[in-house]
Order: sequence, then C-alpha cells, then structure tokens
Amino acid sequence: MLRDGGVLSASRRWFRSATTGRRMLLIATATFLPVVLVSFLLGNALSRSAGVTAEVTSEVDTLVSPVLSLSDELSGAQILLDRYFATGADVDREAVLSRTRRVDTAFAALEAAIADTSAPAVAAPTGRERGPLGIATRVTNARASWEFVRDTVAAPGFTVPAEPEDQAALLRTLGAEIASVRGDLAGVAELATRRVSDAATEAQRSAGAMRVLLFAAVPLSAILAIVLVAWLVRDLRHGTRALREAAEHLEDGRHGVRVSGLAHGDLAPVARAFNAMAERMEQQSRELHEVANRDELTGVMNRRGFQTDLETELERATRYGRPLAFLLLDVDHFKTVNDTYGHPAGDVVLRAVADEMRDAVRGVDRVGRWGGEEFAVLLPETVRADVEHVAERIARVIRRRVVIAEGEPIRVTASLGVAVYEPARHGATTAAELVERADRALYEAKQAGRDRVVFAAS
Ligand code: GH3
Ligand code: MG
Ligand code: MG
Repeated sequence: MLRDGGVLSASRRWFRSATTGRRMLLIATATFLPVVLVSFLLGNALSRSAGVTAEVTSEVDTLVSPVLSLSDELSGAQILLDRYFATGADVDREAVLSRTRRVDTAFAALEAAIADTSAPAVAAPTGRERGPLGIATRVTNARASWEFVRDTVAAPGFTVPAEPEDQAALLRTLGAEIASVRGDLAGVAELATRRVSDAATEAQRSAGAMRVLLFAAVPLSAILAIVLVAWLVRDLRHGTRALREAAEHLEDGRHGVRVSGLAHGDLAPVARAFNAMAERMEQQSRELHEVANRDELTGVMNRRGFQTDLETELERATRYGRPLAFLLLDVDHFKTVNDTYGHPAGDVVLRAVADEMRDAVRGVDRVGRWGGEEFAVLLPETVRADVEHVAERIARVIRRRVVIAEGEPIRVTASLGVAVYEPARHGATTAAELVERADRALYEAKQAGRDRVVFAAS
C-alpha cells in the first residue's frame, strides 16, 4: 500500500508525464467536480431533512386529535361533576359515570395512537424529553390522576358528602386531579410541537452547513485549478526554454548539447528529435574534423591537425609544469627509394614507416605527417629517459622493417631530432621555438651520418 507521500508523488509524476490535453481535462474536472458534488450533497440533505420534517409532522399530527378530544371530554366531565356535587341527584351521577366511560375511551384512543406512532419524540424520546417530561410518562401520569377521579366517583355507594366543607374539599381534590390531567395533556401537545420545530431546525442547520461547504468548494476548486494551470504552464515554459537554449548552443557549434528532463509529456518527442539531430550533427562534425586533419596516404594526422595538437599540448604542459617532447623524423635518402623503385613503392614505404611509428608509441602520444617523408611525434608527460627509449625504438623498428614493394625488399633508415620541453627549466616557449630546436637536432643527426637520434641542447 502506498503511503500518503507515495500517492502524492505518484500523482505528481502522473501530472508531469501526462499530455497537455489530459492535464487540461484533469484541471477541468478538479474545477467542476467539487462544486457538482457539494451541490448534489446539498440537494440530498435538503430533501432528506424535508422528508424527516414531514414525517415527524404527520406522526405528531396523529397525536393531536386524540389529545384534543380527551381534553374536551375532561372539560365536560368537570362540568358534570360540578353539577352533580351541586345537586347530589342520581341522574347527575349517572351523567358523570357515563362521561367517565367516554373519557376512558378517549384515553384508550390516545394510548393506541402513541403505540402506533414511530415519531422519534414519542418512540424514542431524547435529552430533555426523557424521564418525567416524556410524552409516554406524561400520559401514564395523566391516566393515574384520571383513574383516581373515576374510581372515587364510580365507587359503589359513593355519595356527595353531606357537609358543605367536606363537599368543597372533595370537589377541589377531584378538580385538581382533572387539572393535572389536562396539564399533562398540554405538556404532550407542547412536546409534540417542539419535536416538529426541532426537526425543522435540524433540517435548516444541515442545509446551512452544506451551503457553507458549497461556498468553500467554489474558491477551493478555483485555487486548485489555478495551481494546476500554473504548474502546467511552468512545465511547458521550462520545456520550451530548455529546447530554445539547446538550439542556441547548437547554433553556436556546441554539438555535444542535449535536452534532458523532457522524457515525458508533449515536448518529449520534440526533445527526442532534437537530441537525435544534435547527435547526428556531432557525428558529422567529428567526421569532418577527422577528414580535415588526417593524412590520406598514411592515415596519421596531417600537418594542420598535428599543429593544433602541438599548441594544445604545449599550453597544457606550460600550465601544469609537465614535460613535453617533440620529435621530428626524416627518412634517409628517400629520394633514392623513389628513384630506384618508383614513386608508388615510395608511398608503400611511407605507409610502413607511419605504421611502425604508430605502433611504437603509447595511446596518448601523437604521430603526424609533417610533410613529404618527414614525420613528427608528440610525447606528453614523458621524462627525458623515456623519450630516449621511444626515439631509439622508432629508429630501430624502421631500420628493421623490410617493405616488399614491386616485388623487391626495401629497407630504409630514419634520422630523428628531439626537443624536450621542461617548463621548470625553460620557462615559457612557443611551438615555433620547439620545432626549430627539433629541426636543428635533426639536421645534426643528418650531418652525423643519419640513422640516429640527436637531442637538441636544452
Ligand atoms: P636525406 O637523407 O637528406 O633526407 O635525403 P632525401 O633523399 O630523403 O632528401 P630529399 O629532401 O632530397 O628527398 C625527399 C624526397 O621525398 C623527395 C620527394 O620526391 C619525396 N617525396 C616527398 N613526398 C613524397 C610522397 O608522398 N611519396 C613519395 N613516394 N615520395 C615523396
Ligand atoms: Mg626531407
Ligand atoms: Mg629525407
């Protein structure tokens, strides 16, 4: 399961890599969905609370008419009781007893209505409605009071007390009980009404909360949409800027430039195409450079390429205080080779000499054709003892090499002039000076009888 951060970064990744169309779709959804959702919830809550209110109202309504008719019967009973106490006549007692039966019936109707109803106020009284104030409790109390009145008057042999004081006292007691019954009934009616108003208030409150949510959802959606759009725009701007900068680099001839960080999204194919193009241009320029700096006959560097390397290496040697050796090689009596075996044979010999020289040096060393039958070698970072070894080895391998051309075995020798540059000893120098020193040493080698290595005086 993904952690919160995981979900967040996964969605960021999705948003990053999605196409602009999809991202716009998400933005539109993010803008409208919360409003639609909250509106739906608001409508739902309103209709539900309206339903609850209607239900409570109708259930409470079923209680109201039995309460009213019971109350009427009780009023009648009070009047008949007053008259009976005033006359003490049997006919008035009969009227009272008949009315008590009607009150009993009305009580039974109210109790049946309570038993039938599922209105929360009645079925499950909450908070302040529970206990002595609840509807059911009040009805039970009312019935107890009523039964006291009824059983007193209906007791066999009951007569109105003879003494006026006793008569008044009993009538007061019975009247108080009837009043208490009516008080309880009034309480029942009030509770029922309150329940209806509570339901309405509750409905209003939840609608209010939903409205607040709706008002909050609109700006939140807008903020979310703005953030997402800003993100999208920023990504597109970054992408186009990266492409523009890369294109400018390419225009300036920096073919190594590549666009990175645009692996996904709309600009990804553009970036890929750009990188492929830069790659091709780099390859072509490498090939052009190669062709421009390579000697066609021997395959080693030509004078121009070699000269460039010489300048670069000399600068590096001067900057870091490292030694650099420059060797000039001239094939001995080469004119005779040409004269004896022909020019094409001379070419074969020159190729063989170049091959031998290339094999005799390290990978970091450079071999170039200086011109005609003259070659040059550059040995960076090489101390004098090693330079001697290399120069002697070159002279030796050329001396030993037998070239077969025109069916004839041809052997040549070469003379080498070497100039070693040591920045600590020589201070700053120029390529021309270095070449000049090697050239003089080469001349000396020729003078001294050829097939040898001569080091320039330092
Ligand atoms: P030295 O020992 O004094 O150097 O005598 P050398 O004969 O080698 O000197 P010279 O400079 O008189 O002769 C060089 C010859 O190299 C003359 C030229 O025709 C020949 N040469 C120059 N370039 C090429 C080439 O590309 N191919 C061939 N076959 N010969 C070349
Ligand atoms: Mg020469
Ligand atoms: Mg020569």
